[in-house]
Order: sequence, then C-alpha cells, then structure tokens
Amino acid sequence: MDLLPFDSLPAHKPRRFVPQGIDLGDWARIAPLFDQLEARVQACATAADLERWLLDWGELSAAIDEESSKRYIAMTCHTDNADAEKAYLHFVENVEPQLKPRQFKLAQIYVSNPLRAQLPKDRYQVFDRDTQVHVEVFRAENIPLETEEARLSQQYQKLSGSLTVQFRGEEKTLVQMGRYLEEPDQALRQEAWELVANRRLQEAEKFEEIFEQLVKLREQIARNAGYGNYRDYAFRKLGRFDYTPEDCEKFHAAVEAEVMPMVAELQAERRRQLGVETVCPWDLAVDPLNRPPLQPFDQVDQMVSRTQEVFARLDGDLAAGFQRMQELRLLDLANRKGKAPGGYQSTLAEARVPFIFMNAVGLQRDVETILHESGHAFHALATRDEDLYAYRSAPIEFCEVASMSMELLGNEFLERFYAVPEANRARRTHLEGIVNILPWIATVDAFQHWIYTHPGHTRAERSAAWLALMARFGGEVDWRGHEAVRANLWHRQLHIFIHAFYYIEYGIAQLGALQVWANSKRDKAKALNDYKRSLELGGSRPLPELFAAAGCKFEFSRQTMAPLVKLVRDELAKLPVER
Ligand SMILES: [Zn+2]
Repeated sequence: MDLLPFDSLPAHKPRRFVPQGIDLGDWARIAPLFDQLEARVQACATAADLERWLLDWGELSAAIDEESSKRYIAMTCHTDNADAEKAYLHFVENVEPQLKPRQFKLAQIYVSNPLRAQLPKDRYQVFDRDTQVHVEVFRAENIPLETEEARLSQQYQKLSGSLTVQFRGEEKTLVQMGRYLEEPDQALRQEAWELVANRRLQEAEKFEEIFEQLVKLREQIARNAGYGNYRDYAFRKLGRFDYTPEDCEKFHAAVEAEVMPMVAELQAERRRQLGVETVCPWDLAVDPLNRPPLQPFDQVDQMVSRTQEVFARLDGDLAAGFQRMQELRLLDLANRKGKAPGGYQSTLAEARVPFIFMNAVGLQRDVETILHESGHAFHALATRDEDLYAYRSAPIEFCEVASMSMELLGNEFLERFYAVPEANRARRTHLEGIVNILPWIATVDAFQHWIYTHPGHTRAERSAAWLALMARFGGEVDWRGHEAVRANLWHRQLHIFIHAFYYIEYGIAQLGALQVWANSKRDKAKALNDYKRSLELGGSRPLPELFAAAGCKFEFSRQTMAPLVKLVRDELAKLPVER
C-alpha cells in the first residue's frame, strides 16, 4: 500500500502458520485458518503442542491486527482518498464481524482444554484468567442487548455531535466553540460558554432518556450473566482482577482529602490573577495572566529534533527507539489537508513496531502529545521479543503509566523548546492540569458506582446524587444563575454513556506516573531503568506486579496520594510566575 508513510515492514519473526502473501482483507482466505486451529487443538497431545498452538493463534491474530492497523493508518493519513476509505470499510464490514465469533470460539475451546492445567502456571496465569473471564461472562441472549446498547451509544454520539450554536452570525459546532473559553475578554468567554451550556440544556430530556434506556439494558445484561448488579458485572467484564469497587471508593476519598485543598489553592490564585471576586465556569480555561499561547516550534521537523534531544537527555535506549522510528518513517505528525483530526499511537502487530499519528500545529499541546504517544510507542518497542501476542500489550491502567510518565519526565527538559520562563509556564500548566483532572475522574467514577448500585432510582434522586458529587469534587466555582447546567453537567461526559465504568483507569495510571516521576527525583537512572523493565513485561503480569516493577505501589489510598500531591505542590512552588 503506497498510501502508507512507511515502506513495507518485515514481520519481526518469519511466519510459521499464516501463509505468505495471503490476502487478509478476504474473509474467505482467513476462515480456513480458523478451521485449522479449531481442528488442531483437539489433536494436541502434550502441553508443548498446546503452547505451539497458542503461538500460531497469536501469529494469525497479529497478522490480522496489522492488516487492520495499516488500513486505518492509510485512511487517516488520506481522508480524501476514496480507495483508502473503501479498503478500511471493507475490512470493518466484511472481516471484523466474522472474526469476533471465531476468536471467541477459540477462547472457549482453549478454556475447556484439559492440557491447559499442564501449562506453566506462572507464565500463563494472566492469559488464562483473561481468556476464562471472556468466556465466562458471555451469554448468547446478551448479543441483541449489546447491539441495542451500541445503537443507543451511537444515538448519544449523534446527538452530541449534531449540536451547533449561532455565534456572531456564524453556525459553530460545540467543539469549535471551545477555543473561545481561552479568550482574554471575559464577556466574550461568558457569552460563548452560556451559548454552549444552554444548547446542551435544551436537549437534557433526550440525554436523560437515552441514558435511562442504557441503564435498563445494562441491568438486564448483568442479570442474564448471573450478576446481582451491573457494577459487579462490569468489573468482571473489564478484567478488573486486581482492584475492587472498595478500592475505587478509597480513590474518591483520597482525592477529596488530599487533592481538593490543592484545587482550592489553585482556584484562589486564579481568582487573584484574574482580579475577580469569584471564579465562574467560563474562567477555568483562560490563561489567568492573559499571555499569548506558547510557541514551542515553527516547523514539525523542529518538534521532532527537539523531542529527540529530550529523549537523549533522558535515556540512551529511549532516544535510540525514537531515532529508529524516524528512520523507518513511523511518524506522521504534521497537520495537513486530507488528514483525520486528533492523534493516536498504533502498533503494527506483526512487524512489532509502533506508529504515531498527530496533527501538530505549533502549540504546547503538541509537545504534550508527542511525549505522551512516544511513551506508548516505547511500550510497544519494549515488548517486541514477547512471542505471546496477548502479552505484547498491557492493561490500560498501565499503558497510561507508560505515556503519562513520559510527559512528566520529558517536561524536565522543556528548555529544548523554550526559554526558561516559558518552559516553567508550560510545566505549571501541565501540573495544574493533573491536579484538576483527578477530581473530575473521581466524580465520573463515583457517579457510576451510585447509578448501578441504586436500581430503580428516580430522575430526581439521580440528579441529587450528581449534585452531591459536584459539592464534593467541584471546587469553588460560582454557578449562581446556572444551577440547571451544573445539575446536568454529566451529559457531556461520553464515557458515562458509551463506555460504562471506563474512566478511573486514567486516575490509577496518573498515580503511577506521578510515582515514577517522584522516583526520578530521587534517582533518575534507577527510575528510568525500572520504567523500561516494567514496559518490557507487556501484559504478562498482573497490575500490582507491573506497578511494582516500575517502582510504584498499586494502591489508591490517602497514604499513596498525599506525598504525590505534596510533590506537585512543592514543584509548583519552585516555578516562578512571570508575566
Ligand atoms: Zn494514552
């Protein structure tokens, strides 16, 4: 495919099972390989046969995974190319739906295979429990309910995405309105904020209805699978073996006790700097000193070479990894016409190399993104020698430790991009962002715990539960005159609607990243070494062991959080504020 930015990449290991030159966009070619795997597993005589079978299954999965990634990359790099779009859609519509049940069937066959008991326990512990749960929570009668859930999720996205406002004579999407919250002119900010908030409020009834249908479906799905409530089902389904709802409650309590005082301090400072009596919802995103945006680079080439220098200062291995990605052209970073929005890191599962996509335009946000996505890329590079496909990726709670740590560690060398005062300003913004997001994560998570442990609740009860959380975690923002907006604020959080319970992962990972950073303050070489070793483990160990390898505790209590908040406070105090 010449639509890809990189040349064809050799498989990391020669194929043993998947035929060379097979068209992996053609389900008729792929299906016989699944037939073979199903037949072969019955014929396994020894544990060694079963292990070999697992590797062949992984080889097939990786080859299909890479085909899917390449088509996705080609499409997002060339949104104006009809062939690229067609190739991607063909895969999504003709291969993926066929693939899912066949993968599930193999998982089922594996779980019931008696030879499984003879595999080395320690090595297969994680793979086994994941595969077993995948099979265990499955119910055929839930398939139509999940289809309905997906339909409602799409309805939510359609509704959110369709909303526009008339602003200064022009129709604008709510996303486009976001930038006006950074405008120095307070009246303009307020006008923009109120337009957006009231537009959402007009649809409150629809958001509530979609959500109530989703909750009802989810409760039924959980009952069908034999669970007393959807929370218990979701924890199982998400593979949360190593933490419980009580641990999440500990996280909420720790944020309340340790982070909220810091939020109050930051808000008081913002009030002083803005010269206002109270901080209103439209005062939260603007630079409080009205400075122009930071300009870390003009050309994307500069961003790449400076990022390379940052990694060189951090660690030789990481720098070599980033260098190699440049040589193989595994980076497509500049914003240009015909490119999809946003940024992502994708792994080419057979070549076992990462690819980074983004739309850099010269903002500090771009520097954060390249550091973040490079962290994910280092994770992919670190697991190249792992032959079990499932172990080449880690649970999201730890994947984000890899990326968020790299933001914090890389920020130490921001002088590659800026003069000292600007570098400090960028650091301050980043650290304040961490402090401010933790309470929102706690709010979104605690709300869902309440929802799914209060079956049959009324709309008024739900609203009261939300407002109680806003009082706990909302800080001192002046909502007077906008009480209804405050009560419905959760309507804008996509995860609550379409990825139930999936959000606290980012809070857990941030605690890990802060610990890696704290370790680096004490002993940089050791912290970097532990970080790299933990990445090499991929997904082969349970979360507490991955965290331990990185030099972190997997624990969300006040005892863990307090010193991390103190570190952030001390570091902020060291950063002089310059006008
Ligand atoms: Zn990430």
